[in-house]
Amino acid sequence: MSIIFFDHNSTTKISDDVLNKMLEVHQMPLNSSAIHQLGRRANFLIEEANNNIKDLINASNYEIIYTSSSTEATNTVFFGNDSNDILFSKIEHASVYNCRPTNKRIHEINVLENGLIDIEDLKNKIPINKNFLVSAMLANNETGAIQDVEEISKLTHQKLGLFHCDLVQAVGKIDVDIEKINPDYAVISAHKIHGPQGVGALLIRKGLDIKPLIYGSKQQKSKRAGTMNIAGIAGFGEACKQAKKNLKDYHKISKLKNYLEDSLKNIAGENLKIFCSKVKRLDNTSFIALKNSNSQTQLINFDLNGICVSSGASCSSGSTEQSRVLKAMGISDEFLRGAIRISLGPDNTITEVNKFIQIWHEFYKKFY
Ligand code: PLP
Repeated sequence: MSIIFFDHNSTTKISDDVLNKMLEVHQMPLNSSAIHQLGRRANFLIEEANNNIKDLINASNYEIIYTSSSTEATNTVFFGNDSNDILFSKIEHASVYNCRPTNKRIHEINVLENGLIDIEDLKNKIPINKNFLVSAMLANNETGAIQDVEEISKLTHQKLGLFHCDLVQAVGKIDVDIEKINPDYAVISAHKIHGPQGVGALLIRKGLDIKPLIYGSKQQKSKRAGTMNIAGIAGFGEACKQAKKNLKDYHKISKLKNYLEDSLKNIAGENLKIFCSKVKRLDNTSFIALKNSNSQTQLINFDLNGICVSSGASCSSGSTEQSRVLKAMGISDEFLRGAIRISLGPDNTITEVNKFIQIWHEFYKKFY
């Protein structure tokens, strides 16, 4: 049985171009700290990756620090800047939501029923005359809802705070222009865009500083110690180059998503909820729930039929837990427990979507 992969917000398959680039790099002993020609080669590859990243998101005014993940990049910001207060929304990814330095005050910002961050609540919670940092994501990993981060950034800067933006799910799916968003710090991740796992990047607006999270030698201007992952970085750069090329066609995925959602709605009517359907969403993401069902049962049923979907954010134990994002949106229990996320990728086909609909329909008939 071939596998149908509908879990692209969780991770993506490395592309052939990225793999080839990494294989080529892996065949050389490259250390960017070396003075000799292979050190220069390593630095050339880093520079090439920098250019590809900057080109994809218009980040020429940003310095790039490579990390092991976007999780590490966010942790670097939260622990390494001088703010006394950190504000983030209740729907941020765990890499933000669970990063709570004990020497700082944390403020959680509410979310509206439609899945958007409540900007009025943010306004009310910004501390007066204090060093503070606001963190908000551009696109939510569970619902796909696209947030008004430009407005959040503007508001933060008006009140003299710093703004951190999680771009992880948006990059490669929508046109991200970092200059427009104007964050002080931003984070991205390679494995969401057909690059390697274990490679992330922190973008810091030029002129701003950050204390390191990891101490040691003087790599990356002492902002992140440790021998650099040259093959991973080169792979990340190649993934960005491909993402830029493919961006104009990415929206075509929405045809499959709309077809999928319309078909399920035709079957289930009011028994089906499609979360964040009233706001701008990523073209590939569909977070749905069948009334009074249970996500674990559905996931197992899909898995037995060769289809990989998830219940939202993955949990370390591999089991499902109720979505913090949906809870923050005030979704009632009858829909909360049965939520599943379908996140499509550019290689998915209508045949695969039809198979999903068929399995879902059979489940529905047994359930009701
Ligand atoms: N931010 C968002 C919105 C994500 O979806 C993820 C991964 O699921 C992350 C951050 C963490 O990325 P990484 O796996 O690079 O730590």
